[in-house]
Amino acid sequence: MTDRYGPPRFSRSGLRGLKPSATLSLNDRVREMWGLGLDVYHLGFGESRFPVHPKIAEALRANVHQRSYLPAMGIWELRETIAGFYHRKFRMDVSPDQVVTGPGSKSLLYALVLALGEELILPQPSWVSYASQAHMVGKPVNWVPTRPDRDYVLDIGDLLRVMEDSRDNWGNPEVLVLNSPNNPTGTMLSPDAVRALAEFAREQRLMVLSDEIYALTAHCQVPHVSPAQHYPEGTVALGGLSKHLSLGGWRFGLAILPPGPAGEALRQALGCIAGSIWSCVAAPVQYAALVAYSDDPDVDNYIDQCTRMHSIRTHYLYQGLVEAGVPCVEPSGGFYVFPSFDRWKDPLAERDVHTADDLAMYLLENYQLATLPGSAFGCPPEELCLRLSSSYLDTESEEKVASLVEVFTQDPDPARFIENHHPQTREATTRIAEFVADLRYE
Ligand code: PMP
Ligand code: GLU
Repeated sequence: MTDRYGPPRFSRSGLRGLKPSATLSLNDRVREMWGLGLDVYHLGFGESRFPVHPKIAEALRANVHQRSYLPAMGIWELRETIAGFYHRKFRMDVSPDQVVTGPGSKSLLYALVLALGEELILPQPSWVSYASQAHMVGKPVNWVPTRPDRDYVLDIGDLLRVMEDSRDNWGNPEVLVLNSPNNPTGTMLSPDAVRALAEFAREQRLMVLSDEIYALTAHCQVPHVSPAQHYPEGTVALGGLSKHLSLGGWRFGLAILPPGPAGEALRQALGCIAGSIWSCVAAPVQYAALVAYSDDPDVDNYIDQCTRMHSIRTHYLYQGLVEAGVPCVEPSGGFYVFPSFDRWKDPLAERDVHTADDLAMYLLENYQLATLPGSAFGCPPEELCLRLSSSYLDTESEEKVASLVEVFTQDPDPARFIENHHPQTREATTRIAEFVADLRYE
């Protein structure tokens, strides 16, 4: 590979074994298929697609003239505004010094994975990018299996066992990644589970990277609690605008660092990394983010409304799976469900489907359903789990998505919202049920 192309020669470190992001490449593939006129039900990408709130759009337009490089950690006014927002929304005592911004929380995560600890501990399953980032910076990953019958909550005993095994083998697991609401499972950690994990992390002197990008998309059965509320000195909480305000392409993320000298040292490290890679978040986006974090009542209402729409759409998909007899844990935040098709291993094997990748391919080819295999999230390939996202169905075009918001504002009744305005969601759910019925009766 290295010599096959002549110059350039590819570096082995970091690149070797690195795969394209499963989420982004499936999205590209579905868009290509749509471009060829093919019918595909896109359950494969987690992108909140509601329109930009008019006040935030106006702030971006009003700041197009902002063209200078800004401080690497973000303008002070924005860091102050975000600190206030986190205090009001999440009861977190945050000073503006602790707030850093970056081009998407993904970039900040990468910088943190680079800066902190020797090895990562990841729940299995976990979002696609944590393991590839660890891979890029040459840090081993210790996977801790989680179970659907425990709502995918990390078990402290399992966590300890994996850490001990690693240490017995000269390993040094020091950074624990938590993600609630969760991608891919759609579940949330209860306040008690957050406390227990935070206390465990403190005892073990682990650094916690708490990915809270879906915090404001919690469906409200379970309140969102950050481990930083219990273990501020050892937690970095990550957030951004991609999910609750549908601004993924604007690339705005933030991290709340620990207070005190440790947080200050980490801020300096992140400043060095940011200064050497991305310099700062795009200047107009920083000024627009000021409005997004200002507690404007219209923006707040819009966030609630979008979250209710995600909740209704995701629960419809979940109900469809349950009614078809597919084991699946009830979602409580974000827009994902993570069903298992293990109980149909035998009929699937007869169709040459042996792995989750085979299953995702089979559904795409035979039912036009685009999904992601659990293996993309670190699950063993033979576990027949899939991640389905409700976020793209019936939001495929700007017109559709604008009209969804309009009709929901006029009539927020969940049943009518689905029945009258979600043909793709209903058809995708019907196709899943047909697939399961075919496995039973063919
Ligand atoms: N964490 C999780 C769990 C995600 O699903 C995403 C989605 N892209 C991100 C982080 C990164 O989001 P962004 O870089 O857009 O802030
Ligand atoms: N977070 C989204 C997903 O899991 C997609 C964007 C990304 O992976 O960066 O589908």
